Amino acid sequence: MRKVWDLIGGVPPPENKHQSVQSCIGTLPLPEKLIIPLNQHIGAPPKLLVAEGDSVLKGQVLAEPNGMVSAGIHAPTSGIISEISAHSIPHPSGMAARCITLVPDGHDRWADIKGVENYREHSPEELLDVIRQAGIVGLGGGGFPTAVKLGTQQSISTLIINSSECEPYITADDMLIREHAKDIVEGIKILSFILGEPEEILIGIEDNKPEAYEALEPYLQDTNIELVEFTTRYPSGGEKQLIQILTGKEVPNGGLPADIGIVCQNIGTTYAVQRAIQQGEPLISRVTTVTGNACETNKNYLVLIGTPISHLLEHSGFDQSKCPRLIMGGPMMGFTLEDLNIPVIKTTNCILAPTGEELPTPPPAQPCIRCGMCAEACPASLLPQQLFWHAQSHNYEHLEAHNLFDCIECGACSYVCPSNIPLVQYYRAAKGEIRKLSLEKINSDRARERFEFQKTRKEKEEAGKAVKREARKKAAEQARAKKANNPSGNTETSPADDIIKAAMARAEAQKASPQEQRAKLERGIVRAESHLESVQKRLNTLEQDATEKQREQALAALEDAQLRLKDAQQKLADLTLPSDTNVSNTEKTVMEKSQASPREALEKKIATLKERIVITLKKIAEADDESLKTALQNGLEKQQTKLKDTEQQLAETPAQTNESTTTPETENAAAAAIARAQAKAADQASMSDEDKLKATVESLQNRLIKAQEKLASAESEGSEHIDAFRSGVEKLQAKLTAAEAQLAQETQ
Ligand code: SF4
Ligand code: SF4
Repeated sequence: MRKVWDLIGGVPPPENKHQSVQSCIGTLPLPEKLIIPLNQHIGAPPKLLVAEGDSVLKGQVLAEPNGMVSAGIHAPTSGIISEISAHSIPHPSGMAARCITLVPDGHDRWADIKGVENYREHSPEELLDVIRQAGIVGLGGGGFPTAVKLGTQQSISTLIINSSECEPYITADDMLIREHAKDIVEGIKILSFILGEPEEILIGIEDNKPEAYEALEPYLQDTNIELVEFTTRYPSGGEKQLIQILTGKEVPNGGLPADIGIVCQNIGTTYAVQRAIQQGEPLISRVTTVTGNACETNKNYLVLIGTPISHLLEHSGFDQSKCPRLIMGGPMMGFTLEDLNIPVIKTTNCILAPTGEELPTPPPAQPCIRCGMCAEACPASLLPQQLFWHAQSHNYEHLEAHNLFDCIECGACSYVCPSNIPLVQYYRAAKGEIRKLSLEKINSDRARERFEFQKTRKEKEEAGKAVKREARKKAAEQARAKKANNPSGNTETSPADDIIKAAMARAEAQKASPQEQRAKLERGIVRAESHLESVQKRLNTLEQDATEKQREQALAALEDAQLRLKDAQQKLADLTLPSDTNVSNTEKTVMEKSQASPREALEKKIATLKERIVITLKKIAEADDESLKTALQNGLEKQQTKLKDTEQQLAETPAQTNESTTTPETENAAAAAIARAQAKAADQASMSDEDKLKATVESLQNRLIKAQEKLASAESEGSEHIDAFRSGVEKLQAKLTAAEAQLAQETQ
């Protein structure tokens, strides 16, 4: 017989289970309407696929999973969607949420559904997709999407089926096992196949369910599934508690069972998985216990999701006058229902309608007497008394330090407290407050980061502008000083010349040797590879409950890292000669130059000079600063002189057998370009000031449009140079505004 461990803490409340197991699972007539909340699970709400007025068939998808951690919703019967609006949902706060109201047509007609014939011929991923599409979530109360839990990337050695059902009064799982043991065992085999056949499969069951035990036993012959019975004690059905009882292992603080190689599934969920895989049936109903002395009939029903509680009570002979407090769930973990029209959802395991004598209203709370009974009862080894004090004083830091989030809200501490302090209520409220505060903190951190980034960018821009202003001012002062020393005005260089020379000197200094360039690019590749590796790691370690947005962001980062690496590799390849991987393009040019004949070298020089002249002429035409224009004209004159000299040199150089590479066509094209640019410059020279300003405004407008297009494409590509493009647009915009103002003044 397998060894089992004792539950830490725990309490033995009256079971009160016998009342609801006297008859088999019943069904109910269709209610007048079904109210189906969109979000019945942990995770993102599903995407609505229907509209008011739509006719739907039983099992038809009403809303599909929206993201990784999400679950779909299906029509529990055929009918018409009469309304999609906010409605009270099962929640301790009595809150309202978006619900689909379906009016049954009475025909209960199925949509076209089909199960998987032999699941072993399908991959686990395909089966997980069926489970996901069927909208299956943890039916034990958690509501976590089952496909996500089963799709864990961790290696699983133990599968545990939770048949403990430790909460008093509730018998839904017990009855499900008694009546559907064969299907449940089939479901366990499917789960095992999906998880890669774990070494051990354990069904944990309390010793107060002998009928369920006997029902399962025959179907476990010739299987590796072990039925493990243990002493009834509340709350042995908590996931972490059951793992500890069956294996002696502890789930690490803040961790998941999968971290220690264990996956735990509830009985109802296992049955739902079997229905989805082998019958193709989505999760549209569940077994719910209706019990308590305020109901004439205590039994379990197979209830359609969305059935109003009032409908269940109506068919159970409920007497409201006898029931001071209606509860959803059990007496330990359930919550009071204020509205009888709220619906049964996927996680509703019990409706408890006790009389006043049966479950008396707790007397008023008294001060804590520090008896320590709560700590003895706590199955999570917490200190409920300290948690209570810190919750009272809203000391959230201390609450977290005392592992408040390990509290499973079992209520064992409240149950034993002689001062009748509703301890769990304090913990629930504190947890809600901490979650709210941490969400607010995340949002405010994000806003602060955005603000600081923008501030730094602006400061950098301002600093850059100030440096440029200072340089211009200095250059102008130097020019004035030179002019004063040389009244004839025969200065060798203008201030703008100095600026251009300084810029050219900086650019020259920045030029790296081919070897340095290669080394730099190789370093860039190493950096890009390590960045890609860390992004991949981040993506692999994303938590199971990561949102779709987080996953999309991680994938986008991965894509970006891959592009960066590709880019770096391409740059290195560009630098390398195809014929000789050790020779750079720059070196190749030098070699080619050294091998060229004197005439070829001169012809190339002439072609280059002509190209430069065209570029300078264009710049003169576009220049909107007089000193820059003068500097460019000076430069042009020098280029023209050089061109003349080189042409003269060429004329004097004897021709060789290998003739020039410059064809008459290229010479003509260059000459034509020079002529066009000269004509444009001449045109500008003959313009009035107003026309010049108009031309400047027009040119700036065109440049601004092009710069805005570049910025838009950089933004859509998520380029790392967005800031540079944005700054360019801002500068052009400022120049255009100034030019337009000048033009307006001129034309007044
Ligand atoms: S059981 Fe109640 S009275 Fe006793 S220590 Fe805990 S909170 Fe205080
Ligand atoms: S409700 Fe929380 S603190 Fe109280 S016994 Fe249960 S786990 Fe411990």
